Parts: sequence; structure tokens; C-alpha cells
Amino acid sequence: MKNEKHLRNWLTEMNLDHPLVIAGPCSAETEEQVLEIAHQLKDSDATVMRAGIWKPRTRPGNFEGVGAIGLKWLKRAKEETGLMIATEVANKTHVDLALEADVDVLWIGARSTVSPFIVQEIADALQGTDKIVLVKNPVNPDLALWLGGVERLYNANIKNLGVIHRGFSTYEKIKYRNNPEWQIAIDLQNQFPDLPILVDPSHIAGDRNLVFDICQIALDLNYDGMIVETHHTPDKAWSDAAQQITPDFLKQMTIDLRIRKKEGAEEFNKKLNVMRSKIDVIDNQLIEFLGKRMQVADEIGELKKENNVAILQPERWNKVLHRLSIEGEKKDLSKDFVERLTKAMHEESIAHQHKIISQ
Ligand code: PEP
Ligand code: MN
Repeated sequence: MKNEKHLRNWLTEMNLDHPLVIAGPCSAETEEQVLEIAHQLKDSDATVMRAGIWKPRTRPGNFEGVGAIGLKWLKRAKEETGLMIATEVANKTHVDLALEADVDVLWIGARSTVSPFIVQEIADALQGTDKIVLVKNPVNPDLALWLGGVERLYNANIKNLGVIHRGFSTYEKIKYRNNPEWQIAIDLQNQFPDLPILVDPSHIAGDRNLVFDICQIALDLNYDGMIVETHHTPDKAWSDAAQQITPDFLKQMTIDLRIRKKEGAEEFNKKLNVMRSKIDVIDNQLIEFLGKRMQVADEIGELKKENNVAILQPERWNKVLHRLSIEGEKKDLSKDFVERLTKAMHEESIAHQHKIISQ
């Protein structure tokens, strides 16, 4: 994808005066459900309606989607509301059926992006299509794998491409269902500034209460839009109930989100704001990492207590300082700064351990 020469700017051609909104249920459940949601979305900012027909479930035994019949329902939703329609495809059969049903936007799910075989099969089946194809990030935090998926489609002469950031799996349960790792998406934007990027706050969050804030961060980072799971009765949804919002919530959300207008805003301010947002994300990560470091320091404190060992181990401290000075130099950080930072971290660790030992 060296110079992105045959990429089409499909999003600009849509001529929207707001970020792209794709909304709709995690899964198509019944014809009535699909049509009800479509009609409720009609007067929202949504241009495209999403619904999963074939659902990749982590464990068997959960609702696995209604299958091809759901395409008929989506088609009807499009006819009745004028919304474009989108669904996930995970193999050649899905692609053939979706193209036959004139689905406008096809996306590759996170569990498919991890597999070059699957992505290649999908790319071959889509060869030369003028449909919009979006690639979700793989479940693991690997930028090359994500870009590899995009490149396979690009090489299959697909012109209308974009990516969806849906966060990354972690073993330890964190605040989010899937950790956003914003830096990976920022790196992708830096490498391919013309590739539209959408946020999927629903699968990052796993919780409808976090959806708004995630969208705001993404807009602050200059994302082009969002794909949001939306259901008329979210708590009764057959999949991903906790993270779906209602069409009414979506309508209010798109009013409340601060949107950086592309035109009008002075170029300098725009760039500055994007950079500041990046700094904010990195600062949050720093604090999170420092918190994690202190947790380990606490565990060491417990161990020292059990074994009656002194808190301060000067030899270890000198080694840490030396190692970090060398690492810091490679990153163009002054020796003095690294020393002060390391000392501050060390002091905080000692204070933590002191508390534990004296308990
Ligand atoms: C989905 O969008 O419904 C979905 C299954 O998402 P992901 O591939 O991100 O898990
Ligand atoms: Mn889902």
C-alpha cells in the first residue's frame, strides 16, 4: 500500500457535515427487531445500519446469528429507511451472500483479522468490489497484522477501504472489555493518514456507560466516525446486551459530543488539539503503568515482610538507576531527568513498602 494510489476517498464523497455514524444491533434477531431499530435510526446521524448475521462467539452455545435470512431483513430496512446497510463477513460464502443482497458496507471482524488465510479468502471473494470494506483491528495488539489485513484487500483492488478500532483482548480484567491501546491506532493514522478510521466504542467498552467517553476521546484524536451497537431494547438483546445503547441515547450522544469541524478551524489549532489529545492519552498510560509498578512494589513489600528483609537494597537500586539511564539515553532523555524520575518512583515504592512492613 505504498502510496495508496487507488484508494478512493469514499468518506469525503459521502459529503457528511458530521463524523460518519454506523449504528444498529450487535445481531439481527428478528425481522421486527431489525425494522424497528432501522426506523428509530432514520432521524439520527446514522448513515449506515449495522447488524451481525453470522456471529463469531468466543464460546460455543451462545446465539450464533440468524444467518442468511437476516440479509433479507436488512435489505428491507434499507428500502424502507434509505439507510445503507453493513454486516460482518468471515468467509467466501458470507461475502457471496452479502454481495448478492447488495450490502453496502462489509466489515472483517477482529477474530478474522488475526488470520491471514481468512483475510485472503475474503479479499479474493471481494476482488475489485466497489463496496466499502472495513477491517477491525485483530484481537491481539499487533499493528502489522491489522495493516496486513488492509493490504490484502488493497492488493485485491478494493478501493473503498477503512479501519475500525475495537480494542484489544487482555487476560486480566480491566476497566474495558477490550483495552483501547490508543497508541496503536495513532501509529496507524500516522502511517496512513488517508485511511478512514472509525471507533467501535461498544466493543472497547463492554458497558454502555463508557460509550460516550470513548467516542469523545476518538473524536479528539481526529477519528472519522463511529460504529455503535444500538438496540431498541438493549437489555433484552440476544448478544452483547450490556454494551448496546438505544437509538434515543445515540441521538443525544451525537448532539453532546464535541466535534472538531474539519473546515473552518484554523489548521494550527487543529493540529495542536490532536497532539494534545495524544499527550493526554500517553499521560493516562503513564499513570496506569506507575500504578501497576506500585502494585508490584507492594507485593515485594509483603515478601520482604514475610522474610524479614530490609526495604532498601542499595545494590539493586544502583542497578535499576544504571539500566534506566542507558534506556533513557536511547530515547533522548537527559541523565538528570531519568535520575530524578527514577528517584521519585523509588521513593514512592519505599513509602509503599514502609507502610506494608509497619502494618
Ligand atoms: C461485532 O461488531 O459485532 C463483533 C463481533 O465485533 P468484533 O469482531 O470486534 O468482536
Ligand atoms: Mn457485538
